[in-house]
Amino acid sequence: ALCLSQDFDFFYFVQQWPGAYCDTRQSCCYPKTGKPVADFGIHGLWPNYNDGSWPSNCDPDSVFDKSQISELMSSMNEKWPSLSCPSSNGFRFWSHEWEKHGTCAESELDQREYFETALKLKEKINLLQILKDADIEPDDGFYSLENISDAIKKGTGFTPGIECNKDSAHNSQLYQVYLCVDTSGSNLIECPILPSSRCGSNIQFPKF
Ligand code: 5GP
Ligand code: 5GP
Ligand code: 5GP
Repeated sequence: ALCLSQDFDFFYFVQQWPGAYCDTRQSCCYPKTGKPVADFGIHGLWPNYNDGSWPSNCDPDSVFDKSQISELMSSMNEKWPSLSCPSSNGFRFWSHEWEKHGTCAESELDQREYFETALKLKEKINLLQILKDADIEPDDGFYSLENISDAIKKGTGFTPGIECNKDSAHNSQLYQVYLCVDTSGSNLIECPILPSSRCGSNIQFPKF
């Protein structure tokens, strides 16, 4: 339809561990709704190409409109909290994600569907429980990257991309988990290409 949106090949569904976002040198700020529960949160649902590149900011005319997700607010606050500073109510983060990434999937999902799709994926994929079932818990301990990856593969059926960052003591730690989803947003798929991981072979799983 009239060049409204570029095509894409698949989505990365990206979840972040708040403990790893918050204990970097940059630190974090809790949202105005309070400290989020100790669980993975949504970072985004990102259209991507099979070669690893991706489109961004595809439709400047489609601005974020919070009225379209008013019915999703309690789920958004719970599952997609923003931890950047200064403390916010989430709208800045969600608006950034819609405008940068969501607008590139408008051929498949409108704004309400885009956020709803991400929330449904989060409900379906309980990373914390999957890791717990493999005795991998946010206890400041170190775990092998391979064990973490294998546990998520066992729990979801698909190989995850694992991204690390560094805490203020420069330890490599579990920061984000990427899973791949088909263009409808409904089905997990094997990733056509995994993101670069920047992890050591043993990584910390920090408390939050
Ligand atoms: P960073 O520099 O932290 O890796 O990424 C900065 C931003 O670039 C991310 O927040 C995200 O918006 C975008 N980005 C990074 N890697 C990817 C990727 O593999 N696919 C897509 N679609 N976006 C990415
Ligand atoms: P890097 O080169 O370290 O992977 O990416 C640095 C930054 O460049 C990323 O955070 C991301 O914002 C941007 N970038 C890299 N590749 C792409 C791409 O294919 N598309 C877009 N839109 N940005 C990219
Ligand atoms: P990206 O461009 O990589 O999709 O998203 C990163 C942008 O979202 C950055 O500008 C960052 O400041 C903002 N942001 C707001 N809240 C959060 C959060 O909780 N986690 C991350 N990773 N970025 C956030």
